[in-house]
Amino acid sequence: MKFSDVVDALERLERTTSRTQIVAILTNLFKKVIEENKDIIDKVVYFIQGKLWPDWYGYPEIGIGEKGIIKAISLAANVKEKEVEGLYKQLGDLGLVAERLMAKAPKGGLMMFVKKKEELTFEKVYETLKRIAFMQGEGSRDLKIKTLAGLLKEASPKEAKYIVRFVQGKLRLGVGDASIIEALAHVAGTTKDVVERAYNLRADLGAVAKIAVTEGPEALKRVRPKPGVPVRPMLAERLNDPKEILKKLGGKGLAEYKYDGERAQIHLLPDGKVVIFSRRLENITRSYPDVVQYAKSGLKAKEAIVEGEIIAVNPETGEPRPFQELMRRRRKHDVALAMSEIPVNVKLFDIIYVDGEDMTNKPLPLRRKRLEEVVEESEEFSLSTAKLVSTPEELEQFFHQSISEGHEGLVVKAVHDKSVYQAGARGWLWIKYKKDYKSEMVEPVDLVVVGAFYGRGRRGGTFGALLVAGYDEKRDAFATVCKVGSGFSDEELARLPELLKPYISETKPPRVISNVKPDVWVRPALVAEIIGAEITLSPIHTCAKDEVSAGSGLAIRFPRFIRWRPDKGPEDATTCGEIVEMYKSRLKKVEEPT
Ligand code: ATP
Repeated sequence: MKFSDVVDALERLERTTSRTQIVAILTNLFKKVIEENKDIIDKVVYFIQGKLWPDWYGYPEIGIGEKGIIKAISLAANVKEKEVEGLYKQLGDLGLVAERLMAKAPKGGLMMFVKKKEELTFEKVYETLKRIAFMQGEGSRDLKIKTLAGLLKEASPKEAKYIVRFVQGKLRLGVGDASIIEALAHVAGTTKDVVERAYNLRADLGAVAKIAVTEGPEALKRVRPKPGVPVRPMLAERLNDPKEILKKLGGKGLAEYKYDGERAQIHLLPDGKVVIFSRRLENITRSYPDVVQYAKSGLKAKEAIVEGEIIAVNPETGEPRPFQELMRRRRKHDVALAMSEIPVNVKLFDIIYVDGEDMTNKPLPLRRKRLEEVVEESEEFSLSTAKLVSTPEELEQFFHQSISEGHEGLVVKAVHDKSVYQAGARGWLWIKYKKDYKSEMVEPVDLVVVGAFYGRGRRGGTFGALLVAGYDEKRDAFATVCKVGSGFSDEELARLPELLKPYISETKPPRVISNVKPDVWVRPALVAEIIGAEITLSPIHTCAKDEVSAGSGLAIRFPRFIRWRPDKGPEDATTCGEIVEMYKSRLKKVEEPT
């Protein structure tokens, strides 16, 4: 197919903002592709999207920066780089610069005496750009530039303009997926719903286009998820009232902890390979070699697509760590180091496909059951904590339980017959409930040790975390606020058994009010300075129980040990009343729905 046909369409697309016209231009272009060479429809679609292939392929990028493009234009137009740069300053668009200079370039050299210049084809442009992308290693920069210059030389000035813009990643046609889908539906003689459904299950518009034009609408209708190709994720709506949530869901729902991590779509391929896609469908496999291992050993199927949330955990206590920690890990270049410093767990919440079975059209209870069967759970790789709820009270209680364990809230999901997996849609089958009860913590508090937990991993043989409490003046007792396992140096950890020994008690000490049962109880004596990220409502901790909200106490989220306060006795610790004040003074408003 002539590249000029594509360029004509690009030019027209650039000139309009009307959706109807955009769809009409695309429809004509696709018709032309079908006439000329329908096998390249996928590539034409990617090209219109300004790409050579979907990002998740993980293929290299073209990899020529602005300087390189300038050099290529100078070579192709036979002018000095300075001249290209000068004109670029003036015009502000390298595409226009190429067009202008190529128009002036002498079409001379030997070419003049050889045969008439052949018309550039789309296939050639695409293949050349692909070749450039795959040029890697030593000397590849020069080779990339020379190859691009060669391509520009073969192009008309107008074609050169679009090639340059494409290479620069600045095609910017304003064509959305929806317009491409509509045009594809027209040329394939079907409705846009049929194309869209296929696209939601296989987030590769080029591949879907190819099925549409080479195999037809019936084949599109048969499209199922395919391990290795990301599925567009189902998304949740949001409500802040438990009653309304239940009403929307028809009276009951499966409430699941909402984990604050990174969404992961985990694909197990028939050859045993595992690929992980992010919420935005980037291939993030390389960031999570540990998750790849968990999936390999934890998925009992030949092929499968499951979904879950990857969360950072404290290696010693197994407790969740803030989302920022996970992002810190993603930024680290040394993946092995990041893995040991910031280990992760996966909390699975859905199954999209397993061994030939498309699960997307099955109701949630069936999917959850299948997920239970397919996943061999371990500490690192397990199903989300979930509970069937049918009253606002149950829902609220479970919400507090989630928060108190360090999670974000709940996602409450429909369980009726129509509770399918709606790929690519935000709908009312999933409702997130993350009413914000958080209050930022800005100053440290002094808390009394009332219990301790045995350590794991590196902390085997000593204690891994302490149960700490505030002083409850009204009851002259100590009410728990959190379990703290972070912030201790290795020496401090090693010293813990000796330090706690004199105070260890067989039974719960009389003045301790706690719903949490530690591995050992500790009589109130030692005071530690602690800072956390937030103070939140908690159904578990007993500090200020019922004072702010019925049935809840207050807890500190993401607490860190700062130092011991040997100068303070237990009654000198921060009081629960003070913690209430701190909570109230920094309370954030309920988050606006997103
Ligand atoms: P948010 O910023 O609230 O995470 P979002 O726009 O990324 O929202 P939504 O679909 O609105 O996505 O909210 C659901 C998100 O919550 C999912 O994308 C997923 O990453 C996360 N999540 C955590 N736990 C669960 C769970 N049990 N079930 C479904 N999603 C969960």
